[in-house]
Parts: sequence; structure tokens; C-alpha cells
Amino acid sequence: AKAAGGHVVVYSAGLDEQAEAAERLGADLRHSLEDGDFHVVYQPIVRLSDTRTVAFEALVRWNHPVRGFVSPVAFIPVAEDNGLIVELGEWVMRTACHQLAAWRRDLGPAAPGYISVNVSARQLSEPGFAPVVTGILAENGLEPRSLLVEVTETAIFGGGVAIEAVEALHEAGVLIALDDFGTGHSSLGLLRTVPVDVLKVDKSFVDEISESPGRAVIVDALIHVSNGLGLRAVAEGVETAEQAAYLRSLGYQYGQGYYFGKPVPTPGFTDDQPSIVSGTSRGGGG
Ligand code: C2E
Ligand code: MG
Ligand code: MG
Ligand code: MG
Repeated sequence: AKAAGGHVVVYSAGLDEQAEAAERLGADLRHSLEDGDFHVVYQPIVRLSDTRTVAFEALVRWNHPVRGFVSPVAFIPVAEDNGLIVELGEWVMRTACHQLAAWRRDLGPAAPGYISVNVSARQLSEPGFAPVVTGILAENGLEPRSLLVEVTETAIFGGGVAIEAVEALHEAGVLIALDDFGTGHSSLGLLRTVPVDVLKVDKSFVDEISESPGRAVIVDALIHVSNGLGLRAVAEGVETAEQAAYLRSLGYQYGQGYYFGKPVPTPGFTDDQPSIVSGTSRGGGG
């Protein structure tokens, strides 16, 4: 069965305990936001032709005081349900924009072109969301095109206020990406009605390349859709050299995944171009 928040709950004898656990997690989130137990990690988005880093995606991390690392897959839905995602998301946005401004200062033209930040439906529906975002950009001296806002198809599927926020951001010059494309309430019609700049093709379709080489039909179809509409496509979750080469042969220009670099707190940079220099730069990732 589906809960109002959109995630699946199992009706069983354990439901009360599950609801209690979620409530506890929600209360812990609140405390952690006050105590500064969150940080942001950055994963490179690379140009496939030369693996140059063109951008970073900001991903939030929670170091729970007792439980240690808790995955965003577990706590983001809880933060969405109790509304804390509004405050947490704004903090992530501010932190990421501040980081990009610091890279610009330190690296000049070698800094990544933009920063990519995930935004939930709940944030988009918050009155005044777009002005908050443009305010954060201005505070950090960043032009709107320095920011890519990642939304899911599902987040904007319902239409209404969420789409209006996306339109307002786009009108202000902020770039818009559809994240995990192909897995949500997919409708190609959405690409006509919502201003989109970037399609992030979901990892599950990239995985297909290794499962049936030469017959990865969805990644092939989606690059045509993307090119036909004049969008940029980013292949998500690239883990192997084989996948990277295949995507390139299909015409993909951008990729993201452990093969190129895992999310890290402070990516290192070489002199001439931004790239991950900590640990194995790429390929080894594991
Ligand atoms: P996403 O936005 O699709 O981000 C990509 C996820 O895939 C990240 O997981 C990333 O670490 C992981 N990933 C990247 N490359 C690979 C790969 O090659 N292999 C595998 N197996 N995984 C890869 P993460 O950081 O655990 O985040 C999960 C999801 O949580 C994100 O998916 C996003 O939907 C959400 N999320 C994370 N940070 C935020 C945030 O600040 N705000 C909001 N609203 N959601 C967030
Ligand atoms: Mg994302
Ligand atoms: Mg994604
Ligand atoms: Mg994903």
C-alpha cells in the first residue's frame, strides 16, 4: 500500500513499530540539524570524451550521533513527511553554492561549471521557494546558470505549485534536470510542458549495458529523445569502462558514477583541470 508521502509501507503487525521508528528518526533529524551532524559530499559529472569534470552533484550525508551513517534513501522520505526537508534542503543548497563560489575563487576558470542540487517536491511546493534559491545564488555571487536543480518526474507529476516553482527558477536562468529519468511517472509529454535542460538517465538503464551488451535499448532510445529535444543527457551510475565506452558510442556526452569518482567531502583538483585526485582517480573506484 502507498502512504500519502509516496513511499511504500507494509501493513503488518510491525506497522506501529515502523511508524514509531520513523517518528524517532524524524525527531533525530531535527536535533541533528541543530547540532550540525549533516555534511555535503560532491560527486563529479564528467565529459565522456576526456573525463574532464564539468560539474559536481551535491549529496547530503547524515552522521547520526548513535547510529552513524544513515543513507539519504532512508532519511530523505522521513524529512519529506515531517517537513524538515524544507530547512535541510535549503541548508544543502546554501552549502553547495558556497562551495562552488569557493572553487571559483580558488581555481578561476578551472572550477567546475555548475553545481547540481537535488530538490524534493515538498521544497518546490513551499511558497517563495524560487526567490530563496535566487537569493542564495546572489549571496554567493553566482549567476543562475551555475546551478542545476534536480527534480524527479514524480515530484512534478501532480502539476500545480511544484511546476510553477520549476518555471520560476527556469525563468530566473537556473538550469533544470529531470533526475532518475525513466523510473518515475514517466511521460514524454512532461518534456514538452516543463522547462528541462538536462535528462539524467537512471542507473537501471545504464546497468542494462552490462546485462545485455549491444542491446541496451533504453539508453539508446533516450539519447535520441534528448538530442531531438535539444537537451543534454547525463548517464547516471556508470561503474565500468565498458559502460562508459558504450555510452560514448551511442552519443552520450556526459556521465556520472563510481567509475569516474565517488561522492567525496572535498574533491581535490589538479593544476589545470578539476578532477578527483584523492584515492584512485578513476576506474579503481570499486
Ligand atoms: P540521486 O540524486 O539519483 O543521486 C545519485 C545516487 O546514486 C547517490 O546516492 C550516489 O551516491 C549514487 N551513485 C552515484 N554513482 C553511483 C554508481 O556508480 N553506483 C551506485 N551503486 N551508486 C551510485 P545517495 O547519495 O545515497 O543518494 C540517494 C538519493 O537520495 C539521491 O539520488 C537523491 O534522490 C536523494 N538525495 C541525496 N541528497 C539529497 C538532498 O540533498 N536533497 C534531496 N531532496 N534528496 C537528496
Ligand atoms: Mg540527483
Ligand atoms: Mg539520480
Ligand atoms: Mg538515482
